[in-house]
Amino acid sequence: MSETDESAANESAPVEEAETIDEEPSPAADDASTDESTEADLTELVKDDPEAHTGDETDRYAPLEVEGLRKEFGGITAVDDVSFDVEEGTLTGLIGPNGAGKSTTFNLITGMLDPTAGTVRFNGEDVTGLQPHEIANRGLARTFQIARELEEMTVLENMMLAPKGQVGESLWRSVMPVTRGAVRDQETEQLERVWEVLDFFEIDHLADEYAGNLSGGQRKLLEMARALLTDPDVLLLDEPFAGVNPSLEKRLLEHIHELRERGYTFLIVEHDMDLIMNNCERVIVMHQGRILKDGTPAEIKESEEVIEAYLGGEV
Ligand code: ADP
Ligand code: MG
Repeated sequence: MSETDESAANESAPVEEAETIDEEPSPAADDASTDESTEADLTELVKDDPEAHTGDETDRYAPLEVEGLRKEFGGITAVDDVSFDVEEGTLTGLIGPNGAGKSTTFNLITGMLDPTAGTVRFNGEDVTGLQPHEIANRGLARTFQIARELEEMTVLENMMLAPKGQVGESLWRSVMPVTRGAVRDQETEQLERVWEVLDFFEIDHLADEYAGNLSGGQRKLLEMARALLTDPDVLLLDEPFAGVNPSLEKRLLEHIHELRERGYTFLIVEHDMDLIMNNCERVIVMHQGRILKDGTPAEIKESEEVIEAYLGGEV
């Protein structure tokens, strides 16, 4: 729970500067693991029903629906009547100047904060006010910054600590080779999943490294790997590129695109407008707690209100 608390506190801090992190490879960076399970095929991360994502692009199913969301902190209305959908299999960007209400919206969706008004629906069910773990269990995952106490544990230990109840059984069970026997101790099974996800993010060679020794970008990969262990349908990422150098940023983006192609849905909160414009097919712009514009990158770029909000305010 302390991880959750710390993360919540982090998200809602008025000033949230990215830690300046050097991208020096950590000491263990070259220790390529020889474990055979690290050679997992990427296709093992394919979502259950890829057909569901190839339909008519103009009428996609929206697993996440936010309606009339509002959050007041004392006299401040941080989120003011916010409504939007996130359609299945998309990379949707939520952008806006500092203080626009992005992180608060994110925290309202994931159950970290209770809204003053409004509803959050996930896969057709009202999840407003549910506990964060209940929402995560339903397949709406978010990344968590690596809490301080977890820095003293290895990457592998961090992965093994991902809540067992949240691990998506069906997906992983379906990829287990039958020849290895139907009866398998749950921890062994979880270890297999852990290696497959670590391998996917190309951080399997860092398994024995202390999380505290990871570079900023490697941490982001670990954070996403932990979120993926829960086998979510939708992943919410709050500033996943903060403190990440350009080459790791590129890799992180490739992983996100690859997962999207495999059927995962992403809502990415970012203040870097160009990055979102170049990678998302749908962009929601927030300003002063409200939705300023919701559309394709081309529509956003043409919007005078958006240009004004970015040029007029502190970006
Ligand atoms: P963003 O993530 O877009 O930068 P936030 O959602 O963090 O914006 O903040 C939106 C507004 O709400 C800001 O004015 C911020 O100071 C305020 N705020 C956020 N969290 C809290 C809180 N826990 N208590 C009081 N005010 C808050
Ligand atoms: Mg924020």
